[in-house]
Amino acid sequence: MLKSDRTTGFYDPALETLPPKEREAYVIQKLREIMDYAYTYAPAIRAKFEEAHLTPQQIQTIKDLEKIPVTKKDRLPQLQKENLPFGGFTTVPPHQLKRIYVSPGPIYDPQGPEERYWRCEKVLYAAGFRKGDRVQNTFAYHLTPAGLILDEALVAMGCTVIPAGVGNTELQVKILYDLKVTGYTGTPSFLMTLLRKAEELGYQPRKDLTLEVAFVAAEMLPESLRTELEEGYHLLVRQGYLTADVGTIGYECREKSGMHIPEELIVEIVDLETGNQLGPGEVGEVVVTNFNKTYPLIRFGTGDLSYFTDEPCPCGRTSHRLVKLVGRTSETTKVRGMFIRPGQVDEILARHPDIARGQAVITRAHHQDELTLRVELKPGIMESDTLKSQLEQTVREVMKLRAMIEFVPGGTLPEGGKKILDERKWD
Ligand SMILES: [Zn+2]
Repeated sequence: MLKSDRTTGFYDPALETLPPKEREAYVIQKLREIMDYAYTYAPAIRAKFEEAHLTPQQIQTIKDLEKIPVTKKDRLPQLQKENLPFGGFTTVPPHQLKRIYVSPGPIYDPQGPEERYWRCEKVLYAAGFRKGDRVQNTFAYHLTPAGLILDEALVAMGCTVIPAGVGNTELQVKILYDLKVTGYTGTPSFLMTLLRKAEELGYQPRKDLTLEVAFVAAEMLPESLRTELEEGYHLLVRQGYLTADVGTIGYECREKSGMHIPEELIVEIVDLETGNQLGPGEVGEVVVTNFNKTYPLIRFGTGDLSYFTDEPCPCGRTSHRLVKLVGRTSETTKVRGMFIRPGQVDEILARHPDIARGQAVITRAHHQDELTLRVELKPGIMESDTLKSQLEQTVREVMKLRAMIEFVPGGTLPEGGKKILDERKWD
């Protein structure tokens, strides 16, 4: 039994429960405003409209968005490089920003000067966080925005935050116990790591720890892992779908019936070939148009595949819901919360002239991602521990991840085959 009631109410009832007709009117109003604003102040958005021979006045409905070409996230590193730091997509000069984050790619992500820029409070409220919670925030605080997105929202809600960041497992267990922590934010696999470490150190988590609620993101949450956390450790575990560019794109409520789409943006699920909108239940790319006046993203293709439902949710929130994420549009994927890209595999190989071919393989064991770099050596080159540790070091530098190195015989990896092979199952 949870000590406080974490499964009722809303953070912003007026907005979250808007009747469908009013919700549509609200969103369309916001859409028209941001079209004008972005066209006027963001040079890259204006160029995008001009290339498509469009004016903001031609975008009056959600259906009209189909006229605008999708800007793929995979192209952002190049677009930014051509026009540093943000590719012309921001409406303000960099000195007016509150923070600039760096995501792998690299992609530079702005945080504007607005109060409550990330608007993540209602997300955490829906997940069961309440004023007075003591929350261990294990998302990274450096370079990427995840740590601060959650931190700012928790503080705004009246929670006390322990900015724990990533790693330091033993110390983090001690903090959970000593500070009587009630909430966790971070990846689902690190939560499991902490609970297992606690048991290893002689704690009985259900008896000795005060943890009640967890918000997880940045990784898939398999239902088997959620069940283990909820039933095995008596936690309320809800997930969100956040990106460094947009912030929250979807979040679960008490019903765990998909991820509600926040009122600050429009999500379209689109056909990969045509860019046209798909209906409920049809799988396509998640394309976002947000109402963010600092960094308006207009038809931004996230590279994630999902499908939505417009069935009412018993919780009372009236937004559409993304039922779940089902994969990526390209080989780019996340390992332990970090994006890896085919180009990074090429970069690793380029640094080691002794290697003929290579492939990154992702598997999963005990609810943890495992990364293996399979390599074929050039004829006449012998495998060695030195080469192995040099490769481990290069993977760490390029991907910021630990990997196992596996030497395979010549001819094992197909010519022109996948650079990243994702063999994970998410049951
Ligand atoms: Zn709901």
